[in-house]
Amino acid sequence: MTSALTRLRTLRELDTDVRGGRSLAHVFDSGLLEVHRIAAEAVAMYADTNGLDPAAFPSLLTMENELVGFGCDLVDAPATAVGTVTSGGTESIMLAVQGARDSRPEVAHPNLVLPETAHPSFLRAAHYFGVTPIVTRVDGHYRAQVGAMAEAMDRSTVLAVASAPSYAHGVVDPIAWIAAAAAANRIPLHVDACIGGWILAYADRVGRMKPAWTFAVPGVSSISIDLHKYAYAPKGASLLLHRAAADRRPTYFTLGEWPGNPMVSTTMQSTKSGGPLAGAWATVQTIGEDGYLGLARDCFEAVDRLVAGIKEVPGLELVVHPDSTLVVVRTDGSCDVFTVADEMLERGWHLQPQLSWHGEPPTLHLTVSAATLALVEECLAALRDSVAAARAAGPTRVERTILNRLNLLRPGDLTDEVFDDLMAAAGLAGQDGGVSVPGRTARFNVLVNAAPVAVREDLMATHVDRLFRPVRA
Ligand SMILES: *Cc1c(COP(=O)(O)O)cnc(C)c1O
Repeated sequence: MTSALTRLRTLRELDTDVRGGRSLAHVFDSGLLEVHRIAAEAVAMYADTNGLDPAAFPSLLTMENELVGFGCDLVDAPATAVGTVTSGGTESIMLAVQGARDSRPEVAHPNLVLPETAHPSFLRAAHYFGVTPIVTRVDGHYRAQVGAMAEAMDRSTVLAVASAPSYAHGVVDPIAWIAAAAAANRIPLHVDACIGGWILAYADRVGRMKPAWTFAVPGVSSISIDLHKYAYAPKGASLLLHRAAADRRPTYFTLGEWPGNPMVSTTMQSTKSGGPLAGAWATVQTIGEDGYLGLARDCFEAVDRLVAGIKEVPGLELVVHPDSTLVVVRTDGSCDVFTVADEMLERGWHLQPQLSWHGEPPTLHLTVSAATLALVEECLAALRDSVAAARAAGPTRVERTILNRLNLLRPGDLTDEVFDDLMAAAGLAGQDGGVSVPGRTARFNVLVNAAPVAVREDLMATHVDRLFRPVRA
């Protein structure tokens, strides 16, 4: 009976350690062990509930309304505001785009105006829902350009998008101005505050400058905020808030004529576990307003100290001053960020490398959590040592012959055989000819980084395709 759990415990040891403040990617750590314990218990308690039917599980309805209410209070929502708890930021964004499209059924060829720094899930939503993305350039500080966005808006624009903050650079777009431009064209504006919304709302309350981005800005019509990021909830929970119920209505799917049960879905999932909702609700209840204030204070202090310390690390520089709690750095060229990330991992720190973009060098992304505060000096020391080690090794290079092969690849060329051959030639063949994970990923990342954009996509997809293969009896 216990062997499954024993196996899981063993498997789990291979995973990133998400507690202890050293994971600066993927998982957000409040550092409050009791909160994690309570949240885990709540998830388990609700694992068997089904959010499909609020009549059968009224407790889920209560929790959802209370959570949405808490979120509305955070972002200056008017009394008319409503919201939906979704499974994550991507689902919130998908619903925002789909709802905006379907609220304008008369538009034959709907489009979406967004800055190039917007999260990829907007392009994915556009792809899924047949909406044309109109992508505009950002300025020298990686913020959306109001003029470019205003110019891109036309009568077929069903939604405009801005970020608070953007994932890759951690800066907040000039939302008041974008909202004004959108409103002048009668276009709704979605603010993607998935990663930073929860903590940015407290930035103001702890006395930090906060650029306006909430419903207090006229013209902001919907906002997405992930609970599983800076609300420190377990994975699988996000909020999609709408200024008015009429805007949310098209996101509901109903079918009046069907021989089965009466069907209304408020999200993209139908049957859905109440676990993540209960986990998020329990987290928010337990941490509460005062708790989040303290966590925000800690997190911003950690950011300030990291930013100051990073300036003193030889070989490392800040890409842009953070508007929130995401710190983005690059090297001076004496080494590559992929090797720095590997070196950090060896020292117990999980950071995220980001690929080169528009000819700019690749960067390293640090998502700072409240739990990182106690470890800032250790983090800076690890960065100093990691950069020094990466500099000693020098920048990882891709051989000319491999580069030539990458440049000659056309979409669809990358069959299993070609991939294997390429990996072998690049000295990257792991077990089964694939690239082994986990481990040092710098050389594979350097290869992806060096490839043309279309080939990058193929390389990454083929790599992942090879990872997900069934284990047969
Ligand atoms: C994380 C994130 C998303 C997507 O959220 P998921 O929860 O990963 O689906 C969207 N936008 C931004 C800015 C994000 O950081």
